[in-house]
Amino acid sequence: MLCADYARDVTFTEPAATPLALLLLGQGSDAGSERGVDCPGELPPASDPTLVARAAAAKRELGDRVFVLGHHYQRDEVIQFADVTGDSFKLAREAAARPDAEYIVFCGVHFMAESADILTTANQQVVLPDLAAGCSMADMANYQQVVEAWDALSDAGVADVTVPVTYMNSSAAIKGFTGEHGGTVCTSSNAERALHWAFDHGEKVLFLPDEHLGRNTAVLQMGIPLDECVVFDPHKPGGGLTGQQLRDARMILWRGHCSVHGRFTAENVADVRARIPGVNILVHPECRHEVVLAADLVGSTEFIIKTLDAAEPGSSWAVGTELNLVRRLANAHPDKQIVFLEKTVCYCSTMNRIDLPHLVHSLESLARTVSGERAVNRIMVDETVAANARLALNRMLALPQAPAFAG
Ligand code: SF4
Repeated sequence: MLCADYARDVTFTEPAATPLALLLLGQGSDAGSERGVDCPGELPPASDPTLVARAAAAKRELGDRVFVLGHHYQRDEVIQFADVTGDSFKLAREAAARPDAEYIVFCGVHFMAESADILTTANQQVVLPDLAAGCSMADMANYQQVVEAWDALSDAGVADVTVPVTYMNSSAAIKGFTGEHGGTVCTSSNAERALHWAFDHGEKVLFLPDEHLGRNTAVLQMGIPLDECVVFDPHKPGGGLTGQQLRDARMILWRGHCSVHGRFTAENVADVRARIPGVNILVHPECRHEVVLAADLVGSTEFIIKTLDAAEPGSSWAVGTELNLVRRLANAHPDKQIVFLEKTVCYCSTMNRIDLPHLVHSLESLARTVSGERAVNRIMVDETVAANARLALNRMLALPQAPAFAG
């Protein structure tokens, strides 16, 4: 068949969107999820050679009215304008500790900006430079699915003895559900402490939405046997589990994962050991269980940074976490060999949506905003949801602070 005939005979119809379909970039709008929304206004072109000067000038003009938070996985071009950098836990604390800043510009992803909005005062506005910067992991648990999962636990007779623990990487709605049902938020820095707290308040934990962090913490740090962990699949009736399986389990892990950390494999670890004699393997606990078992050290982003800061000159490291951070650490420590655990590039695509043009657009828009006016790209969480989410976040903030996941 000739191409012309083919074009005449075959017409392509865009499939109808499913509830969990990704939005095409720049098209459509879904402010209630992590899946991204339209970006208003004209962005400066990335080729504009004055972008750095424009960002600096707008930030200078805003002065103390603005505070810029930068997650470790952000691009260098953005991180240079952050007043503080950190992981999601540290940045949540920093946002809560800045009541005088009129605007918090969050260079990170949507769930982080939501948490900042929940923890800041009503007079402050939190801005996400690109509203399409969501998180695929957070998208793996939506509110209705979690309600249905809780119904399944009720049917099995275990909801009353189950404490929900949600990872910071979840929507405000899931944090709200967790707060309302007596649970807490956790991060990779304090997951063990959060689980100890939860088991002091119940017999079982429903851990959302990252099965790997839940399993790694439960098994490797708490000593819970692997066969007492079950995986609840929200796409299967009853989570794909029988009532007896739910009654027998101590850890009920939500089927969800990070699309960056979930890519590392035990083969990557074996490959790098073969390539670099004496290499130390350092990975994040969002990696799969078999990867964590094969590694030498596992810990949160902050733990990874501190470990490499303290490492001996001349030592070799292969690091399993987001590539922006690994490259920044390699550049900061030229006396140590620091390589990426995977051979192929592995940026977090949504973290990378926050680039210099978006930051310039946000800062310049804020500089033009009159006090009290609604800021462009403001993140606002519904107050009822926020009140419940605040319960869960404050339970987390009250946990002892020392980093837990190490070794
Ligand atoms: S690195 Fe993973 S968990 Fe973090 S924002 Fe990206 S997809 Fe989400």
